[in-house]
Amino acid sequence: MTHVACASGVELLMDFIEGVLPADVSSALEAHVAGCARCAAFVASYQATPRILRDATVVTLPADVEASLKAFLRARTNAFKDRD
Ligand SMILES: [Zn+2]
Repeated sequence: MTHVACASGVELLMDFIEGVLPADVSSALEAHVAGCARCAAFVASYQATPRILRDATVVTLPADVEASLKAFLRARTNAFKDRD
């Protein structure tokens, strides 16, 4: 089995996460990540990122918050208009 060190691992980890590595390299990395807190944290944070972004885009405001926010923005807009 190929020994994978952290230094060469980070670049490989990206490919590993993307699932584009050959099976033997992938399994070597998998073994390294399993025993390496640094790489495990990297993989975990990288895999969490798309989920965080997806969650952020699907957030919807509660109706009352949206209503008061719109009222606030409308009031601000009117305030600017009154100045003209
Ligand atoms: Zn490592």
